[in-house]
Amino acid sequence: MDDRTDAPLDLLVRGGRVVDPGSGVDEVLDVGVRFGRIAAIADDLSDLVASPRLEYPPHTGTTVVDARGKITVPGLVDLHAHVYTGVCPLTVPADEACSTSGVTTIVSAGDAGAHTLEGFRNMIVNGNRTRVLAFVHISTIGLTGWPEGEAIDLAYLDVDKVVRAIVENRDIAIGIKVREQAPLIVGDNGLTPVRIAVEAGERAGVPVMVHIGGAPAALGELMELLRPGDIVTHCFTPAPNGLVEGGELIAAAAVARRRGVIFDVGHGFGSFDYGVVEEAIAGGFWPDTISTDLHSLSASGPVGDLPQTMAKFLNLGMPLAEVVRAATLRPAELIGRDDTLGRLRVGDIADIAVLSLEDHDGEFVDASGARRPARQLLRAEATIRAGILWGGPLPHPGRAAGSRSWLDAAPPL
Ligand SMILES: [Zn+2]
Repeated sequence: MDDRTDAPLDLLVRGGRVVDPGSGVDEVLDVGVRFGRIAAIADDLSDLVASPRLEYPPHTGTTVVDARGKITVPGLVDLHAHVYTGVCPLTVPADEACSTSGVTTIVSAGDAGAHTLEGFRNMIVNGNRTRVLAFVHISTIGLTGWPEGEAIDLAYLDVDKVVRAIVENRDIAIGIKVREQAPLIVGDNGLTPVRIAVEAGERAGVPVMVHIGGAPAALGELMELLRPGDIVTHCFTPAPNGLVEGGELIAAAAVARRRGVIFDVGHGFGSFDYGVVEEAIAGGFWPDTISTDLHSLSASGPVGDLPQTMAKFLNLGMPLAEVVRAATLRPAELIGRDDTLGRLRVGDIADIAVLSLEDHDGEFVDASGARRPARQLLRAEATIRAGILWGGPLPHPGRAAGSRSWLDAAPPL
């Protein structure tokens, strides 16, 4: 684990409680960074801290991030967000959203379709320091018409075009997105869009992420179409045809999970309901991945950011290490990137988040306006992307630094 050399570090994350689900480490350690990669993880790396100097060998000095009393985790991976600014409505700029929230990899969930993926690469992937990946929408127009209707005309659901777009963009295109919501998004097409998406996913060799929330058929029927590794997002939606029907967790949930279907939070503006969550977890049904469904409405409303969404599950009784896993290693595994993302490992790109875990006396609000106690808060104190320190929470509409009132005063949405 310790790959020390005598060369000074560029950055040191000092004395945090390292929680790394990939290695199982949960102990106080220093994490050292050199040339954008993790150079060492050890008890005490203070002898590798340098002051700026001009004499040979020159060094700009070591940036020291004081993580004592805080938690050092792999850079967070948000599996569901909307960041194609300038093309899709209601999106948020990736760097502004991620630099203050510990997120170093953000996955655009269907913003771009085959016809708009090149622009997405040029503007969004290349235009942000945050690592941006994409579920390519099964509809060639993506979410340019968000929130309505991209799968009403099946002529837009072109398997050949989506498969070609993914094959030509393997570095950023990690899956396929489809939204099953009737009649708003799929019209009278029932489950045909998800069938087409799975066919494309099979040909391209990538997972399919299905948005539910008013799906045109029972969730059990929909999930029978999914393969192991395919993802149901908005899994705790209060809309009809969800995980909980008639006040009970549907039997098909356990069947699908045993088969390997994945359940993602995708909190969003309307898709996280405490009544549904509590019914599900009473049956032992915790989410596989915790994601925000960040967009302009959810970011300034019930979601805030990914650490706050993680904290909701922490307060519901999910152990910290599992909460961290669900927002780091697990999403990385699902998109086939766990060889490089979601871990803290010497030699890997230094994507690191420092979080504070603090006692609190307030409330969280869900997407239906229900409130629950917020006894512990998770907040990003530092976001380090490829070895560069972004900083912690910054003044931002709806989440002013130094004031936590936005947590308690979120409107009932
Ligand atoms: Zn979404």
